[in-house]
Amino acid sequence: MITAILLLVLVLLPPAVGVLFILDRGQAEELSRNRMLADRIDALLPQTQCGACGYPDCRSYANAIVSGAAGIHHCPPGGMHTRNRLAELLSGSPVSPSAQQPPEEPNLVARIDEQLCIGCVKCISACPVDAIIGAARQMHTVMPKVCTGCGLCLPPCPVDCITLVPEEARIKRFVWPKPQSAVEVHS
Ligand code: SF4
Ligand code: SF4
Ligand code: SF4
Repeated sequence: MITAILLLVLVLLPPAVGVLFILDRGQAEELSRNRMLADRIDALLPQTQCGACGYPDCRSYANAIVSGAAGIHHCPPGGMHTRNRLAELLSGSPVSPSAQQPPEEPNLVARIDEQLCIGCVKCISACPVDAIIGAARQMHTVMPKVCTGCGLCLPPCPVDCITLVPEEARIKRFVWPKPQSAVEVHS
């Protein structure tokens, strides 16, 4: 009886070890692929490490995109430019398509009420993309072409004179509205 069991173990052990080895190798390859994809996503992020995406830093956000836990539209400093580049990178990758789909929402830009601005310069220090110009005790203004609408300049302003407003349509960003389908037109 014992001999039979030993024989059985000897026969079954090598294939079992082989299967475990293959599974282990498959997992290692997947981990390595995910790490490389996260590296490429991280390289497209602004590296502000501001946490506005809900993750402590850009790398954690990149990992969340790879795992499918986060979409590509949660990085305000990156704005539309970063979203588009991420969508380009992830098209054809195994990352969930819903994670790649940016929501349809207007682009926002910061606007300073120049009558209220006291020129304290705090917003300039907060802006990750240098979109604000101004000098100490002088009126400040936002360059809408550079502003990504991240909103990071709002909290430091002591007189609450910065607001986010929908960006005016510019020829570079204009897209034709979707055509109505024949069914919608005739119903
Ligand atoms: S919001 Fe963007 S820049 Fe800020 S930590 Fe997240 S990924 Fe980085
Ligand atoms: S001006 Fe304000 S909203 Fe615009 S990018 Fe700079 S910090 Fe963000
Ligand atoms: S933080 Fe507000 S008050 Fe200070 S410079 Fe910027 S816009 Fe003006």
